[in-house]
Amino acid sequence: MISVKEALARVISTAQVIGVESISIHNAIGRTLAEDIYADRSMPPFDRVTMDGICINYDNYESGQRIFAVESIAAAGSPTVTLQDKSKCVEIMTGAPLAVSADTVIRYEDLKELDGAFEILEPTVRGKNIHTKGSDHSKGTVLLSKNKRIKAIDINILASAGKSIVEVYCSPKVAVISSGDELVEIDETPTDYQIRKSNVYMLQSRLQELGVESKTFHFVDNSDYIYSEIKVILEDYDVLLMSGGVSKGKFDFIPEVLEHLGFEKLFHGVAQRPGKPFWFGRMGEQKVFAFPGNPVSTLACFHKYFVPWLYKVRGLECQPFKVVLANNVSFKPDLDYFAQASISQSEDGRYLATVKHGNGSGDMVSPSSMDGFIELPKGKEVFEVGEVYDFIRF
Ligand code: AMP
Ligand code: MG
Repeated sequence: MISVKEALARVISTAQVIGVESISIHNAIGRTLAEDIYADRSMPPFDRVTMDGICINYDNYESGQRIFAVESIAAAGSPTVTLQDKSKCVEIMTGAPLAVSADTVIRYEDLKELDGAFEILEPTVRGKNIHTKGSDHSKGTVLLSKNKRIKAIDINILASAGKSIVEVYCSPKVAVISSGDELVEIDETPTDYQIRKSNVYMLQSRLQELGVESKTFHFVDNSDYIYSEIKVILEDYDVLLMSGGVSKGKFDFIPEVLEHLGFEKLFHGVAQRPGKPFWFGRMGEQKVFAFPGNPVSTLACFHKYFVPWLYKVRGLECQPFKVVLANNVSFKPDLDYFAQASISQSEDGRYLATVKHGNGSGDMVSPSSMDGFIELPKGKEVFEVGEVYDFIRF
């Protein structure tokens, strides 16, 4: 059995970028840019008026003029107009290009409307209320750099730069596989000794949140069946995310079948609770994450190992998240303890993790009201309030 640290290092060492694909920005949220995004024009692209009001030539204002007759009107989206007579004004709206020969905008709030003219009531300065062409970014500058995770505001930038299609790192194709003769479909009525299959739907939903497409499969506890099914699945998928069938039971066939198929085992068993029987291996570029079947074990292993692996495949680093332990915990086994905890914030802004011991790794209701697992390292039995540890968010 290896340590959590070593297990994570082995998992991460197999993560490499699969390739680059072009996708619509409609599907790009959460993905990682595989290209730099340049400004295709100045930003803003013209002297943009930022207030509804009038534009004037400041020289006239400076020489004492306060009443300006309206020469024309300009809306956002209409071509640039010219202020023909510098002693007059153009009524102009937010988003319109500043009129040629004008250099200052006075907002309606600082004006009194007269018959066909406006009187300026408040002092102003030259250049007021104008977002000058190129003042944010000049044409050709990098707006978003390669390897950036795309957030909603980045979709705004991509759209502004005319990028409806964007290059991102490929996501792996993932098969989510449950195994076990006791499992039935959600809509079936289980007999006394059966339970409904639930892990695969949890994993698939979490993958969906991460922007990864997946398909679910189910294996009965029969090694020949598992062998032939995996062979077929491997034709189409980069990653097999399995749950169940990796422990010491007489019908836990997954590890031996995987090795029989030619997978290289990178480890089987990690000094952690929950999720100790986790099996991980690879064959060429294909990877298998075979988690133990208890829902909380599956949840913990997915977030501790698969998520950082996926980040790296997509050109990103998973940033550690540290929390302060808010209650004393004692845990005797010589294992890293992933303790379910909820997070709150202290008055001075620190994240506090309150541990609540669940009913064991079969109870999926308990983690539902938690925020993640605080990682209490092995080699210690008592963990005290105020100590700082890593946190696995789910
Ligand atoms: P195993 O890892 O196959 O020994 O399974 C451990 C426990 O997790 C057993 O009680 C299983 O019934 C349960 N289990 C396994 N796979 C699933 C699944 N896909 N959904 C819900 N529970 C599962
Ligand atoms: Mg099983």
